Amino acid sequence: MTMRKPPLATANVSFFVAAHVLALVAAPLWGILVGFSGWTWLTAGLIWLFSGLSITAGYHRLWSHRSYRAAWPLKLFFVVFGTFALQNSVLVWCARHRVHHRFVDDSERDPHSIRTGFWHAHIGWMLRHWSSSEVDFEQIWDLERDPILKWQHKHYWLLTWFLNLGVPVALGFLAGDVIGMILLAGAVRLVFSQHCTFFINSLAHTWGKRHYSDDNSSRDNGWLALLTWGEGYHNFHHAFQADYRNGAHWWDFDPGKWLIAASKAVGLAGGLKRTPTFKMRRARVQMQFRKLENQLAASDSEETWARTIEREYQQFRDTVAQWQAVQAERVQAGSAALRYRWQAPTFGKRLRQLERHLKAQAGRLASLQQDWQAGSRSAG
Ligand SMILES: [Zn+2]
Ligand SMILES: [Zn+2]
Repeated sequence: MTMRKPPLATANVSFFVAAHVLALVAAPLWGILVGFSGWTWLTAGLIWLFSGLSITAGYHRLWSHRSYRAAWPLKLFFVVFGTFALQNSVLVWCARHRVHHRFVDDSERDPHSIRTGFWHAHIGWMLRHWSSSEVDFEQIWDLERDPILKWQHKHYWLLTWFLNLGVPVALGFLAGDVIGMILLAGAVRLVFSQHCTFFINSLAHTWGKRHYSDDNSSRDNGWLALLTWGEGYHNFHHAFQADYRNGAHWWDFDPGKWLIAASKAVGLAGGLKRTPTFKMRRARVQMQFRKLENQLAASDSEETWARTIEREYQQFRDTVAQWQAVQAERVQAGSAALRYRWQAPTFGKRLRQLERHLKAQAGRLASLQQDWQAGSRSAG
């Protein structure tokens, strides 16, 4: 890093040191010498689950990206359990997160740009008073008036101590395991869940595949999704940040999106934003082309390859143009389409057909890629 190092953020550093000593030294010792009760494990697991879901479905998708609307009981749940995760108030979190999306990979402005190094992106950015970590409240003008968020922001530290220490102590009394509860449901759970979230800023910008865009360093990584309740599909997320899903395929492990969909089913959420399937496929096919073109440029292969790819690309452009034309027609039809509902299915049918074109093309490009690799292996 070329920047001169600013002064240490002593409060943060002391907190991280204390929490890590409790979680990595005191808790294992206690576990070996005394052991933890089943209730303690259960409490730690449940707080991890609820706080993790509150960060992903609440802090991140509801408030930072406004990817759906939520009723107040759900908001209250997210605010209370999100506070357990000790990642600051929703207002501060969202302000920084929006800056991250806006200036992703910019070492001067992205608070945890991966270009400043893995460690800095993971935790280092919180250990010193970097100017890029300063909170710009103008980013969250749309959230500041929400009474629940105002309440959490105002009483954040009181709430934090009450939840992270008061609740484990109280539950510890009930379970007859106060120290165990503080160490496991308090410290271990907190440190573990924080590193899982920090991995999204470090690992999810380093390790994984770029399926949708290579304009920035974000990666899709199913392993990270397992640790973060679905947040691992970070390349998709950076490409389509308004989508309430992170794992867009039905088989992707994304409890965050399942919770939001379930909340909708019981009337606690609405207005869920989804990226049209065609746009997702278009981005993926575009990436396949980019890969093939890079290979083409790097090799001195025959003209036939170049011609095949050019032909495919022409087809791709045609499909995209047709899709845009149908969309424009649909918008134009607007009120007429509402009056004559029988027209709507034709649009849907044509759009689905174009989606299928793209799917078939993705398959052709994948086998082209395979043939190429096989060819270059046998040539080598
Ligand atoms: Zn985001
Ligand atoms: Zn990111």
